[in-house]
Amino acid sequence: MKLTFWGAARTVTGSMHHVEASGKHYLLDCGQYQGRRKEAEERNRNLPFPGASIEAVLLSHAHIDHSGNLPLLVRNGFAGPIYTSAATADLCVPMLTDSAMIQEKDALYLNRRTLRRRALGANHDTPEVKPMYTVEDAQHTFPHFRPLAMHQAHPAGPDLTYQTFDAGHMLGSTCMVLEHTPRSGPKIRLCFSGDVGRAGLPIIRKPEAVPPVDFLIMESTYGGRLHKHIEHVADTLATVVNRTHHRGGKLIVPAFAVGRTQQLVLLLHELIRASRIPPFPIFVDSPLAVNVTEVFRKHKELFDAEATAFEEHGEDPFGFHRLRYLREASESKTLNDLRGPWMVISASGMCEAGRILHHLKNNIEDPRNTVLITGYQAENTLGRKIAEGHSEVNIFGEPHRLRAEVALLDELSGHADQQELLAWMEPLAKGLRRVFLVHGEPAQQEALISAITARFRIEAIAPERGQAFDLAIG
Ligand SMILES: [Zn+2]
Repeated sequence: MKLTFWGAARTVTGSMHHVEASGKHYLLDCGQYQGRRKEAEERNRNLPFPGASIEAVLLSHAHIDHSGNLPLLVRNGFAGPIYTSAATADLCVPMLTDSAMIQEKDALYLNRRTLRRRALGANHDTPEVKPMYTVEDAQHTFPHFRPLAMHQAHPAGPDLTYQTFDAGHMLGSTCMVLEHTPRSGPKIRLCFSGDVGRAGLPIIRKPEAVPPVDFLIMESTYGGRLHKHIEHVADTLATVVNRTHHRGGKLIVPAFAVGRTQQLVLLLHELIRASRIPPFPIFVDSPLAVNVTEVFRKHKELFDAEATAFEEHGEDPFGFHRLRYLREASESKTLNDLRGPWMVISASGMCEAGRILHHLKNNIEDPRNTVLITGYQAENTLGRKIAEGHSEVNIFGEPHRLRAEVALLDELSGHADQQELLAWMEPLAKGLRRVFLVHGEPAQQEALISAITARFRIEAIAPERGQAFDLAIG
């Protein structure tokens, strides 16, 4: 078995690992890389292998940094199955369609701006921007999905089986164990953690224990950090909402359209029900949210006790008075002239694309307003610059002064922290030979390497992009 790291190597996005077993090639995830526009374009457009060379994709979960380049893979000749959980397969339909639509719209917006500037005599050499993939490319991807039940071992190719466990990170998220039984030599068991979640997150269940393996590819997003306790999340949210409401300001909330948005809606529902925040207008400005809510309802079997309780009382966890889902762009634009206080939850979560950019452009220069950051922000993204409180940020290529309050809701992180990652490793660590850390920035990885070495006395490394390893026992 041979392993090559093509994405999320010493960084957090673009998850993609290449496995070779019995002469066949597989991908663990096929995610979109996010970062500086030019570099991201280059990295995403140019896959380091022909699509047709891949036998199957094993997809850990639906987040775009894990699934977002599947349409490109298919356009590049991939003809095999995409194995994943049923909820992930269902979520990928609206998510990849939305991702394609965002890319088409952004290209249109940038090209129109170039034309306007050219008319004014500037920017003659700006090339035309093409979407990375289109809605049509996304639609060609869906027939490749093969949803498989969790916990059972399924054949993934010659001499290779694939088995999944609930990762507790988002609806349908999985950790996977690959077992390679070569014709000669011992069996090799490899676990890919995907993104490891946490106990206590709204809606979803806690991560399941994974049985022992020989090699482990593990995420390390928060490998050097300890999170604030999740029990405080409702208090923090209520404080920020009330403070902004008091100023008559608007709350601009970038959030992953799938997962984080539904968790925020459920928390706001509980706060309003308990009269801890005023019943002011809340908008979920995402054409994706309506479709995704349907997918959540279809997969109630994955809900935790809290979300199940809403259902049992005949209440909709994802809907309440004063909450409006905005599907059309024309509805989104009406917010431009609406006086505060109000709140909008919109995508993308790292402020790299989508309607959130328009809300930020219109609102971040007003000190009455708050930008509430609810998730991880990768290096070089607009979301990261806002979270770090830069005094000026570029939106659609134009500088804007950041005068709004910036608040962080770290508690809701969908990623395990250092302690939680070590606890998650415990059941699979017996006999473990080596840990490959992915999906983390170097400082977080170094801290986690020290912690793993100290606790388990197992070799842990953070591979570079393109680095390959022979996984052999004996
Ligand atoms: Zn994720």
